[in-house]
Amino acid sequence: MPQQQSLGIYIHYPYCRTKCNFCDFNAYRLPKESVVNSYCEALLKEIDHWAGTLSAFRPLIIETLYFGGGTPSLISIEYLTRVLKALNQFGEIAGDCEITIESTPGSLSPSLLRNYRALGINRLSIGAESFDPKMLKALERDHGVEDIFRAIEWAERAGFDNLCLDLMYGLPHQTMDDLGRDLAQLIACSARHLSIYQLTLTSRHPLTPKLPKEEDLVAMFYAIHQALEANGFVHYEISNYAKSGFECRHNRRYWGDEDFLGLGAGAHSYFMRYQDAIGGAGWGVRWANIMNPLLYTESLKEGGRPTCRLHALTESEAFLERIMTGLRLLKEGVNVSKLSSKFNNLTSNLESAIAELRARRWVDFQGGVLKLSPEGFCFADEAALKLTEK
Ligand code: SF4
Repeated sequence: MPQQQSLGIYIHYPYCRTKCNFCDFNAYRLPKESVVNSYCEALLKEIDHWAGTLSAFRPLIIETLYFGGGTPSLISIEYLTRVLKALNQFGEIAGDCEITIESTPGSLSPSLLRNYRALGINRLSIGAESFDPKMLKALERDHGVEDIFRAIEWAERAGFDNLCLDLMYGLPHQTMDDLGRDLAQLIACSARHLSIYQLTLTSRHPLTPKLPKEEDLVAMFYAIHQALEANGFVHYEISNYAKSGFECRHNRRYWGDEDFLGLGAGAHSYFMRYQDAIGGAGWGVRWANIMNPLLYTESLKEGGRPTCRLHALTESEAFLERIMTGLRLLKEGVNVSKLSSKFNNLTSNLESAIAELRARRWVDFQGGVLKLSPEGFCFADEAALKLTEK
């Protein structure tokens, strides 16, 4: 009997009640109900399509499922139920499948959260972003601070013990004291996983002149690292912290060279064995769906496929990806001997590049494993480029 192949599935819901002024995700203001329903029907068709196409690679087992957005907590329970049922077509959903849904604090209610638990959703991600009313207003969030606390309390009562909060730093006119207050609130919550991102805006954005200076942003990054590690969170990825055993299994697939299928507008996929179908060179295949939700919906309505970019990775691309994602995993790093045996043709300069990065104090290299040092946390991409230079 062939071995079951593990799969992660990402489902994109692109709509939000309002569009926050800093957001560059594939997210749009909620349209009328008929448009949303057509999108959800298209999603169900896409599930049917891939369940059929990937049947050649069975047996598959879904080990992680992630509803992201947009604001997927706006999806009706009826559609969520249908989507979960349809996913059974892929084969098996693991008994301990990690099922995450992203949400905004204002979109939740006690009954919605109870319904999620009944459907098997076991990980709730809440986009808090800040506990400072001034900052929430500046970012045009559609919720207040009280909504965050209420959502956490409802989630706890509904039985979510794997609760994740998103926070942003480097906000307009934010000081270290402001950040300290946000961190204190975050630490006092029952969240087991924290995703913390720096606010990044285009140079022409009206809020850009109000953002903290570069040196203050670096100081904020390290203040967050110190405060959270001192309070029992492991800084396991550049932007992610978790209590032991609560790292996001789904996101680890992206960083760990494991297969995932992205469904919905703009979703990305990576499937190693799909190259057998398209004649890749053995380094895996990536593809992406049409970004625009209306065009995505149209393409499926007409019986087509929403895939717009299908790319078989070259050896150099796969090498760069392995180093970039490996370095981001701060506790695991990159196993250089494994890497060298896999990418034999590309590693002739690795030794000298590692020596140079050690001299800059950006990396530690022990027992054949290369990790970013705290001084190198802010230079992950530069370090990866150095390591892949020919
Ligand atoms: S709620 Fe999230 S996805 Fe939606 S507009 Fe705001 S930041 Fe973007």
